Amino acid sequence: MMEINREIDNIKIKVKHAKKLAEEQDAGLDKAARKHLIIKIKHLLKKKKAVLVAHYYTAPELQQLADETGGTVADSLEMAKFGNKHPASTLVVAGVRFMGETAKILNPEKKVLMPDTRADCSLDISCPASLFEKYCDSHPDHTVVVYANTSAAVKARADWVVTSGIALKIAKHLTDIGEKILWAPDKYLGNYVKRMSGAKNMLLWPGTCVVHESFKAKGIKDLKLQYPEAAVLVHPESPEDIIAMADIVGSTTAIIDAAKKLDAKSFIVATEPGIFYKMKQAAPDKIFMEAPTGGDFATCESCLRCPWMAMNGLKNLAQVLEDENPDNEIHIDETIRQKALIPLNRMLDF
Ligand code: SF4
Repeated sequence: MMEINREIDNIKIKVKHAKKLAEEQDAGLDKAARKHLIIKIKHLLKKKKAVLVAHYYTAPELQQLADETGGTVADSLEMAKFGNKHPASTLVVAGVRFMGETAKILNPEKKVLMPDTRADCSLDISCPASLFEKYCDSHPDHTVVVYANTSAAVKARADWVVTSGIALKIAKHLTDIGEKILWAPDKYLGNYVKRMSGAKNMLLWPGTCVVHESFKAKGIKDLKLQYPEAAVLVHPESPEDIIAMADIVGSTTAIIDAAKKLDAKSFIVATEPGIFYKMKQAAPDKIFMEAPTGGDFATCESCLRCPWMAMNGLKNLAQVLEDENPDNEIHIDETIRQKALIPLNRMLDF
């Protein structure tokens, strides 16, 4: 456990580094330069027979580009599934590295490029494969369930891969058939799944998402006093006291659906604000507010923005399409890929 906690402590330094890289990305670009890059990216996507697959947490400009060029904006699993159905031979994944890896696991014959393969995720960082394997080996009687936010090597050691949309259903199923669960890496999502599924025997890896763990219950309470009609939408990677305040707890897709379907006219949203681009498209007449992360004694590292998602910009997107630099391509050892495919397919078949 000491080694795991050391990895987690290092995340603060990695957040700072990612923030610096993200700030440098597209810094100083004026409106005309941005427009020029957007035109260039559209042209290169066509020329290279590539398709842009962007996550909901990337910058609105990138999401708009994906929409306008026949790509997609989605959660990590839908991104990989879209890549599978689309005829393009090159997938350009705007997101974080585990998303590029998942796309490669499901689409080995395609070239998978990313604007910056150093774009990480605090959950993935917290769970290095070597430590995870040791932990699994010391609990051989547990079924290993890992969240999508993990490396291909960690997925390869798992019995199941789950997304936030399906985690609860799979945990209930495993509990019903009497399985003990070893869950990694998000302790808050794991704890939510444990509470809701009634799982008695569930071990939790201590990873967290730097964005979702930074929400403050007091800040949400104060905002609710100002906007009592607002519905609270919470991603289950958030801590228990934030989840307790939610009208809806759900994945990114469920949060966008709730914006459309709920009668409320305003929403306090506890997830990365990149999602507002799609929420506004889904419900243009409604008001969306960021759930607070600051306030007195704020200790947040990322303060709402995912520093790694922010490493995706117009400049490096244009560059990856132009150069197809090998450093920007995702490669996975074939043995690991084959092993990681098994728990991924198990989830898809479920
Ligand atoms: S928002 Fe959190 S879970 Fe998503 S990529 Fe960033 S650090 Fe990882």
